[in-house]
Amino acid sequence: MFSHLIPAAKDPILSQSLACLQDARTNKLDLGVGVYRNEQGVTPVLQSVKRAEERLLNTQESKGYVGLAGCERFNNAMIELLLGENSSRSRAVAVQTPGASGALRLLADVIVMANPSAKIWMSDLSYANHAPIMKTAGVEVAYYPYFDPQTKMVNETAMLATLSTLGKNDVVLLHGCCHNPTGADLSYRAWQSITEMANAQGFLPFIDMAYQGFGDGMEEDAAGFRYLAERVPAYLVASSCSKNFGLYRERTGLAVIASDTLQQSECIKSRIMECARSSYTMPPDHGAAIVRTILEDQALKEFWLTEVTQMRQRIQGVRSSLVDAMKIQTGTHQFDFIAQHKGMFSVIGASADQVTRLREQFGVYLVDGGRINLAGLKESDVPFLAGALSEVMAP
Ligand code: PMP
Repeated sequence: MFSHLIPAAKDPILSQSLACLQDARTNKLDLGVGVYRNEQGVTPVLQSVKRAEERLLNTQESKGYVGLAGCERFNNAMIELLLGENSSRSRAVAVQTPGASGALRLLADVIVMANPSAKIWMSDLSYANHAPIMKTAGVEVAYYPYFDPQTKMVNETAMLATLSTLGKNDVVLLHGCCHNPTGADLSYRAWQSITEMANAQGFLPFIDMAYQGFGDGMEEDAAGFRYLAERVPAYLVASSCSKNFGLYRERTGLAVIASDTLQQSECIKSRIMECARSSYTMPPDHGAAIVRTILEDQALKEFWLTEVTQMRQRIQGVRSSLVDAMKIQTGTHQFDFIAQHKGMFSVIGASADQVTRLREQFGVYLVDGGRINLAGLKESDVPFLAGALSEVMAP
């Protein structure tokens, strides 16, 4: 049965992390894998999560099955977090999923079910797993221009020019905030233009919201998406609790569907649940129970928001320290863009050779394509990183 199988290609991000772990040097840096670490280099369990877990331990009375859509209280609380008072809430429904990855896959499945010739357009560059998930589900993948390697910002003119050619068979995948891998986010003006285009041309916006709260704030990070959500007839969202709740391994996410009418949204939801039924059936409960416990309790929610603010501010602090250190090292403003980027990552423009040199000469591990995880960097490691980067990358 299996004799002809060859091993899968190594995951580009996870294999870097493993290589760093095996590196015997003490002053090495793993800036590859996308997890937040604190100043002690630890990916902490949030205190708000601990408190929610204590409550669950004391009050949970059953481990019986929950249901194909997961916990509806979680779904509703997450819809509120994403949409606020947005008018599209009245036609938005959701399914709890194993992480945003699960949501991406289920939404891809339902796209194929609805329209086998649909094409999904993603940013060039995009999250490393976007294309594999879409392709495995059977959705054709195409790219719109996004990251400008010169300015390290979004080339919105080129992006909008491509989107202006799309129509009813097209799905446009947008990062809600904190673009992975580039760190370069869309302007509010671009969200407005995309909204107009979606309405005029009929393409379906599909938003991946994996880092809400890590850019400018919980509400601020959703502003562009909410503008769009209020105005387009239909949209999809894949949302993650991995980063902002620190629940990476609990696999906690959400697929949101908003169509023209609530009835239509419910119909799509039922087909998504059908897809879930024939794969994992039901999502794991623990992470969702934690999130629901936090979001339904105003005091605990406030406490969680302060923890997210602390994480966000630490990342912003690291960004500005690195920019300052690079100014001193290079005597230029070449790396100022790092402070303008949002969220955990920045693509810094290192070539394949430079990535190799950083790894071999300095023990600095970044993902091919030159993505660094600022959220994995300690303030105390900034001078070392700045030294390595300026030696390898400064002209
Ligand atoms: N989308 C993006 C843009 C991501 O960066 C990630 C994870 N790094 C995911 C989705 C998947 O997240 P999850 O852990 O919730 O599956």
